[in-house]
Amino acid sequence: MQSDSFTSLSLEPRFLANLATLGYHHMTQVQAETLPSVLAGRDLIAQAKTGSGKTAAFGIGILNKLNPAWFAVQGLVLCPTRELADQVAGELRRLARGVGNVKILTLTGGVSMRPQIASLEHGAHIVVGTPGRIRDHLGRATLDLSKVQTLVLDEADRMTDMGFYDEIAGIVSATPVHRQTLLFSATYPDDIRFATAGFLRDPLEVKVEGKH
Ligand code: ADP
Ligand code: MG
Repeated sequence: MQSDSFTSLSLEPRFLANLATLGYHHMTQVQAETLPSVLAGRDLIAQAKTGSGKTAAFGIGILNKLNPAWFAVQGLVLCPTRELADQVAGELRRLARGVGNVKILTLTGGVSMRPQIASLEHGAHIVVGTPGRIRDHLGRATLDLSKVQTLVLDEADRMTDMGFYDEIAGIVSATPVHRQTLLFSATYPDDIRFATAGFLRDPLEVKVEGKH
């Protein structure tokens, strides 16, 4: 029988202790169905509705692979809006307490470039941002994505609806070919399937119908 406890995953004791502190004892359904593959390094397309715990499903994947002693952008999460990027960064920061000193930077539009550039000069392990602003930084060579190990397209349906496809394609091409790519979405219609197919390598597809 499949266990839904986080302890069934091979995670560091310190990381598990932090999850317990956060009140995360049992995996949600999307976490239980994706985390074993995410932790094994597989590409993935996960479809599950809002509130089902998708952030931790990819967040635990990014953090488990992250080397805090290596000051390079190792994880990149693309989100459709500034608000969602802030929410994801907040959740990643809570999860990262079980890892150590992990610098997580949000790069979104609606704020000036200068402080973002200054923060990037100090380095970051994980960047969470919106496609337009990430693209701006790439154009100015203020962001280096050549060390990215895990790329996440969060709320992929909304990002493609908002016309971010070209930006996303440009960003993906700035990351290494040998990366892990995780796509999370509430819906996964054919146009998004076709638009994103080239970003993923032999992805596992998971669709969770229920609430949790
Ligand atoms: P989604 O991205 O699917 O909309 P979120 O990742 O934002 O969902 O998670 C929704 C809420 O559930 C958040 O408040 C998060 O902290 C909480 N949560 C996620 N996973 C768990 C878990 N395993 N146990 C308890 N709460 C969880
Ligand atoms: Mg989400």
